[in-house]
Amino acid sequence: MAGPIRGVLFDKDGTLIDFQQSWGPVMGLVADELARGNGDLAEKLLHVGGHDPVSGRTAPGSLLAAGTAVEIAEAWAPLVGTEDITALAAAVDAGFRRHGPDYAVPVPLLRETLDILENRGLRLGVATSDCEGAARDGLERLGLITLFDFICGYDTGHGVKPGPGMVIGFCTTVGLDPTAVAVVGDNTHDLEMARAAGAGLRVGVLTGTGRRAELEPLADVILPGIAALPAVLEGWTGR
Ligand SMILES: [Mg+2]
Repeated sequence: MAGPIRGVLFDKDGTLIDFQQSWGPVMGLVADELARGNGDLAEKLLHVGGHDPVSGRTAPGSLLAAGTAVEIAEAWAPLVGTEDITALAAAVDAGFRRHGPDYAVPVPLLRETLDILENRGLRLGVATSDCEGAARDGLERLGLITLFDFICGYDTGHGVKPGPGMVIGFCTTVGLDPTAVAVVGDNTHDLEMARAAGAGLRVGVLTGTGRRAELEPLADVILPGIAALPAVLEGWTGR
């Protein structure tokens, strides 16, 4: 039985954090480190990952837009000349974790929007393909960590997107049925995760790498950014 939304599970990068402004510089630093000063190799790593260092844009659905550190490591391993995916994934994670929080640029009205939702009594969570530690560091740095009841990365133990596990984990933690939960994200895998879990509302946002045309078929509503979410939730009584 559809009803009002009582919890919101947010993707992090591209949803809470402005993707292009935040991750462009970080990807460049991590690629430089892994290439050990070989500029051509660093450029190749970014290219394979879907990031164009000249324009600063990351292609929608690409590894660097939507992949986990393990998926990125699998693609980069032959280029950096290693077969140890686990070690390379750990190095990628460590690089993102070291540099990410320094460059995290919040989307417009992030704090204000989360405050409105919290004041209405909604339970809030984060589900990211980043590692949980990096997510916690970044949210701590932005002074937002106490607003969230649930913070989940690809390594938390709830599986990865687009599987339903992160939504189920959030629901279990806060005691809500998936039909009472909105999932908000900038990529198709966020909305596919929402559908797989039976979430009550699927919201696509355009502050990340995903484009309207690809998000629209999977979403109940597309917003320019999360600042428009409180108004949508107020009027939402189910699809
Ligand atoms: Mg995202």
